[in-house]
Amino acid sequence: MRVLRLHGPMDLRMHDEPIPTPAADEVLVRIKSVGICASDLHYYREGRIGSTVVTSPIVLGHEASGVVESVGTEVTDLKPGDHVALEPAKPCLKCEWCLKGHYNVCPGIPFFGTPPVDGCLRDYITWPARLCLKVGESLTFDEAAMLEPLAIGLYACDLAAPNPDDVVAILGAGGIGLSVLQAVRTAGVKRVIVSEPVEARRLAALKLGATQVTTPTTAEQDIAKFTNGRGADIVIECTGEDDAVRQTARIARVLGKILIVGIPSSDTYPFDASDARRKQLTAIFVRRSNKTTERAAELVAQGKMDAAVLATHRFPLEKTAEAMELAFSKSDGVIRAIVVVSE
Ligand SMILES: [Zn+2]
Ligand SMILES: [Zn+2]
Repeated sequence: MRVLRLHGPMDLRMHDEPIPTPAADEVLVRIKSVGICASDLHYYREGRIGSTVVTSPIVLGHEASGVVESVGTEVTDLKPGDHVALEPAKPCLKCEWCLKGHYNVCPGIPFFGTPPVDGCLRDYITWPARLCLKVGESLTFDEAAMLEPLAIGLYACDLAAPNPDDVVAILGAGGIGLSVLQAVRTAGVKRVIVSEPVEARRLAALKLGATQVTTPTTAEQDIAKFTNGRGADIVIECTGEDDAVRQTARIARVLGKILIVGIPSSDTYPFDASDARRKQLTAIFVRRSNKTTERAAELVAQGKMDAAVLATHRFPLEKTAEAMELAFSKSDGVIRAIVVVSE
């Protein structure tokens, strides 16, 4: 089977490797669609995210869907032919945090495409059946792959716990920002301001229910004006850019909440301490998602969340480098570049 490995920054090479055999509790999945996420881009371009460094050739890709090809001897709830979305993280189920249900913060949790765990840019993968969510065939494989970012949006919204009358500001309208926006709207929030430098993404935000859009250069004034100088009740950072992180504390109201979802290149979050302290802000650092993928699938199936809007461009596996470059450039209206491993 084809396996695409990252050997170092910007160095993707196709390998021919044997198809794996599922263990008793695993299924073999033929991969269909894989979304290229900002975290994949960090590894692709920089060979690292913070202290996690690519030291041996790794397979990227964690926003994935596919078809069950075969199942291990103990698997009873999935069968060949089932369409699945893959949960990219494998919690240990034994630590204190797993036992309390906080699977996403299981220390050292293995995660697709994060060294040393191989991800989904390959023809087949074996994965525990419990981490493969069966999805209805009304969802396309691209949509099923987009359940991963949508689940992050739902989780961030759960943590933010907005009231319908809150003003929510979302910084960044990429795949995650637009997922957070949809989650917040689904939660009944009436006023959502989205700050985003790329015009096509601002338009997408308006289509998905943003009340108002602005840009990073005008966000502080616009949000102050929009809230009569009070500031946003909740600010959700979805870019990983230092300037946006800094803005969260400036944009939030007194006793407001800021949520940091984006992954920075530098492994530091810069705040103006004075803003954060004088306003006595509550900061929540969001670690992916926890138990929200199934809800994302239901909301998409019910037409309450739009997964298709995120999957804007498609590339065959051989052209993954082009998908990475397009995703990095944020040009041509791209939200998520999808690598179509098989049609
Ligand atoms: Zn992702
Ligand atoms: Zn654990």
